[in-house]
Amino acid sequence: MGDYVLVLNAGSSSLKFSVYRRSDSDALEIDARGQIDGIGTAPRFTAARGDGGAGIKNEGLNAAVCDAPSALEHLAGWLRSRYVGAQVLGVGHRVVHGGPRYTQPLLVTPAVLDDLRALVPLAPLHQPHNLAAIEAVSERLTGVPQVACFDTSFHRGQPAVATLVPLPRNLGANGLQRYGFHGLSYEYVASMLPKAAPGIATGRVIVAHLGSGASLCALDKGKSIDSTLGFTALDGLCMGTRPGALDPGVVLYLFQVLGKSAAEVEKILYKESGLLGISGISNDMRHLLGNPAPEARLAVDYFVYRAAREIGGLTAVLGGVDGLVFTAGIGENAPEVRRRICEASAWLGVRLDPDANRRSAACISAADSRVSVWVIPTNEELMIARHTSRVLGLVEAGT
Ligand code: ADP
Repeated sequence: MGDYVLVLNAGSSSLKFSVYRRSDSDALEIDARGQIDGIGTAPRFTAARGDGGAGIKNEGLNAAVCDAPSALEHLAGWLRSRYVGAQVLGVGHRVVHGGPRYTQPLLVTPAVLDDLRALVPLAPLHQPHNLAAIEAVSERLTGVPQVACFDTSFHRGQPAVATLVPLPRNLGANGLQRYGFHGLSYEYVASMLPKAAPGIATGRVIVAHLGSGASLCALDKGKSIDSTLGFTALDGLCMGTRPGALDPGVVLYLFQVLGKSAAEVEKILYKESGLLGISGISNDMRHLLGNPAPEARLAVDYFVYRAAREIGGLTAVLGGVDGLVFTAGIGENAPEVRRRICEASAWLGVRLDPDANRRSAACISAADSRVSVWVIPTNEELMIARHTSRVLGLVEAGT
């Protein structure tokens, strides 16, 4: 087997990976993907062929796989046994926050790592795990170049009014601004538009990344001009466990009247709110759709309400809208949620083709819809593999 690029997406209890190899036509082709999840509790390793073929591994792991270094050690062993004699050309990491400075993916150096550590307070639940994976690779795969790819980069270049946090000027010195996230997903969708939906690629498009985390991005001629996530990944839409936009007075109330500590407030905002908080049942849309409990229905109602409301807001930012794109777990797989968001956006001239929507076809709008509506599966890993190859001067990545 030939040499490969490894893509890592490290979370609090999981290490997701993808292996990309060079095809005969010099494009990057996924060979395998998988994850180690349950790190620290009940670790499990799963891997599947990149072409969607049968799983190639699914096994419980020794409890000693309890942190990033031990998870990486296990993964490295598996890679060595599957890709005998092959070299890791480079490792591309998803890094949630690039701060005001990093507007592009870049080679990780000790100085870059120091800068990224300083951003931990801006993304406390994601950044530390992203960086732990980089450190683990430096220790275990010595000498292999690593590239950090940021969820914030794609949004740099937005107009000043979109990035402003309107607090006193002197508080803004340390990077207090709206950054936006899910940038690798939006960048991938934007890169696909000329081929998948050429009629809107150079127009005004709203992309709805609806997964466990959820946000919208306003694309003008393929460039991000605003998004619903802001300084942290808490703003905007209702998410699985995060509330989305919230009156800041609510946070004061939690501290001052309910006497919550900072750690408790952080837990409420990142892990206990959103779909889970409203329903008291689940953070997973699959468990809420079709659940007759009023709390489950209210959670879905709010998710749809908030998405439609923000679509209206971004339409104002764009001065109209030509296309709407759904992506990520809910956006790609939940026709009912798409239908309800589109019905609530009918005033914009959005009309669905119900059959195409049920089938999750690529184009799901009716022929007479003023706004064309699309389902484009996202592929953040491929975006990272492309960036990594480019930064390391490996291959010109194809799709
Ligand atoms: P992340 O990568 O942020 O974990 P995903 O993009 O994988 O999120 O989206 C995960 C969410 O997608 C799940 O929580 C679930 O709510 C939703 N989802 C996945 N498949 C379906 C489906 N068939 N119907 C409804 N929701 C789905």
